Amino acid sequence: AEEEIDRLDALLSTGDADSEIAKLNVDGSAKLSEDAGYLVERALELYQETDGTFDIAIYPVMEAWGFPTQKYRVPSDREIQKLLKNVNSQKIKINKKTNVVTLEKNMKIDLGGIAKGYTSQRIAKIYKKDGVKSGVISLGGNVQAIGTKTDGSRWKVGVQSPDDTESMIGAYEAADEAVITSGAYERYFEKDGKTYHHIIDPATGKPSEKDLKSVTIISKNGTLSDTLSTTLFVMGKDKAISYWKEHSKEFNMILVDENNKVYISQGIKDHFSSDSDFTVIKK
Ligand code: ADP
Ligand code: MG
Repeated sequence: AEEEIDRLDALLSTGDADSEIAKLNVDGSAKLSEDAGYLVERALELYQETDGTFDIAIYPVMEAWGFPTQKYRVPSDREIQKLLKNVNSQKIKINKKTNVVTLEKNMKIDLGGIAKGYTSQRIAKIYKKDGVKSGVISLGGNVQAIGTKTDGSRWKVGVQSPDDTESMIGAYEAADEAVITSGAYERYFEKDGKTYHHIIDPATGKPSEKDLKSVTIISKNGTLSDTLSTTLFVMGKDKAISYWKEHSKEFNMILVDENNKVYISQGIKDHFSSDSDFTVIKK
């Protein structure tokens, strides 16, 4: 597992100047490995399916806010508008046979919203191949369960309170699934009394200011859970609920809104518990 994390990090990390993605961002074109090529392909599909809410071409905007270097700043509206002209995954070309990816001038991509879920999914696959039938992989907010506990009961995954990371808003009992959360409280900085977090709305180029504090996605597929947790956070409550209604066979979700109200999708109601009230969303 450790080797796999290092291997994928070395391919995918924008922070590592030798990675395939960092080189692609400098050169504008590169032949990618199977893993990186697959992730770009998936990201482009999700861009289409989410009306551009999930957009890996967001990287120049991430840089303007200082997230990659942690040299945080608040860019001007003019700077953001200029950068947004190139935030458009539709302009990314990929040859699915050769994995050659080509970007347009001034474009850069970032797999930060998809790579971690893919990594935990890969690790689960390796463990399963080696005969592991029962286990939990946890990569900072990303939980991937293998099977159930050895006694057949499900793994209990706590869902953090967005306001107080020491307490829980509830627990989900997982079996062979990826449970992945995105929230404004994970990575952010403060300037002049305002907080700015690292999930950007491609429509504005600013940290998403919709009405959700956290989104947890539950599905069989770690890559999907990771992308959708980021995407539904940006969509906000109403759009997230309609998106789920259209894709209820693929995933389930736990939403915490700005008033700390908790909503869960119908498909997980038998495996979610909480000390407080929650609303079950039906199809
Ligand atoms: P974490 O990595 O902290 O678990 P997320 O899974 O929500 O959090 O991913 C946030 C990361 O996704 C950001 O750091 C950035 O790299 C990337 N990102 C931010 N906004 C978008 C977006 N609209 N579309 C695609 N990727 C994004
Ligand atoms: Mg994510």
